[in-house]
Amino acid sequence: MTDEHGPGRVTAGFREVYGTEPGGVWAAPGRVNLIGEHTDYNDGFVMPLALPHTCLAAASPRTDGVLRLHSGDVQGGVVELRVEELSPVAGGAGGGDRGGWAAYPAGVVWALREAGLLTGGAGGAELHFESTVPTGAGLSSSAALEVVTATALNDLYGLGLTPPRIAQLCQRAENAFVGVPCGIMDQMASACCTEGHALFLDARDLTQRQVPFDLAAEGLRLLVVDTRVKHELGDGAYASRRAACEAAARALGVRALRDVPFEGLDATLTELERLGCDTATRRRVRHVVTEDRRVEEVIERLDAGDTRSIGPVLTAGHASCRDDFEISCDELDLVVETANAAGALGARMTGGGFGGSAIVLVAEEDAEAVSKAVTEAFGAAGHRAPRIFPAVPSAGARRL
Ligand code: ADP
Ligand code: MG
Repeated sequence: MTDEHGPGRVTAGFREVYGTEPGGVWAAPGRVNLIGEHTDYNDGFVMPLALPHTCLAAASPRTDGVLRLHSGDVQGGVVELRVEELSPVAGGAGGGDRGGWAAYPAGVVWALREAGLLTGGAGGAELHFESTVPTGAGLSSSAALEVVTATALNDLYGLGLTPPRIAQLCQRAENAFVGVPCGIMDQMASACCTEGHALFLDARDLTQRQVPFDLAAEGLRLLVVDTRVKHELGDGAYASRRAACEAAARALGVRALRDVPFEGLDATLTELERLGCDTATRRRVRHVVTEDRRVEEVIERLDAGDTRSIGPVLTAGHASCRDDFEISCDELDLVVETANAAGALGARMTGGGFGGSAIVLVAEEDAEAVSKAVTEAFGAAGHRAPRIFPAVPSAGARRL
């Protein structure tokens, strides 16, 4: 978003690596999720917004089926692969990015090939990436990397893919090729968000609505607080939470927890107990069902033009993530408690949990004091200083 990360720099990077001019430059953003955590893989509702931070790709097609990948953000040279030889096993599936960062863009090319979109020698390409999305901070640098790859190849090969289709193919790449069992939210946010809006998404059928989210007009700010910690148990906990949700849905005989009505929640929880579901699983269910309701509540309040009033809903969402879904951590709780005590309107962890980032809704005039209080609290607790910046609702993937 800044000059040094604009098309000039990534073009120069491409030239340096490949010795030619790129065919074009594309951008795809990271995101924060306003509300709707761990609901996407339960076919529920989410509401992310794109950040101004983007992953840029300079790219050119090749006609010989060779894929060359380079990132200015990691050590190491060009990764060279053959499109026809890409397979999840060779790509390092099952271990996150243990197969190396290149598994993300290579997985996208694999997903395009598997969908029958690349024929003959098509799919060969040279790509160079540079990103301003912090990695591993729960702001979806991985989705930005995938979506920028798919968007570039979509244009270079004239594939005619819509943004939601691009998101689905990128999710498939991350699930099946990289081996991360993520839902569809991150990729949809990166592909479909628009400037000045939050994206209300129904993860079941990908119905979406752009909800105006003009913080400045109401004298508000949404701060992102990157705790700069990532606790190890996160990956396994994600998979186990997902499995618990799916088991509960099966026990209840519904397709997904999205189908459990908020109004009948108490009766459902009693029924689950009768069916022998353990306490932890029942709490997971309560989180998902109440979280879907909170997304609807936030929409209602935004539609009514009352952004301020979403604050308590965000904070309630945090309590549910912490107590019922058990995916928070000391650092995230500290952000929420300190920010609210210092005058914020509401705050919550955002993203998968166990570290990463929190968001804080605050009146513009209180933003500085709240940031200072959070930074001081981190210092007093012996944590590294957090990185704090405002979330400005920005555009989704695009050609520059
Ligand atoms: P998050 O998506 O929350 O940032 P993930 O663990 O899902 O965290 O994804 C981070 C991984 O994505 C990095 O470890 C790296 O493999 C890959 N990645 C993201 N951005 C880049 C980039 N600019 N260059 C190379 N790899 C990247
Ligand atoms: Mg990710």
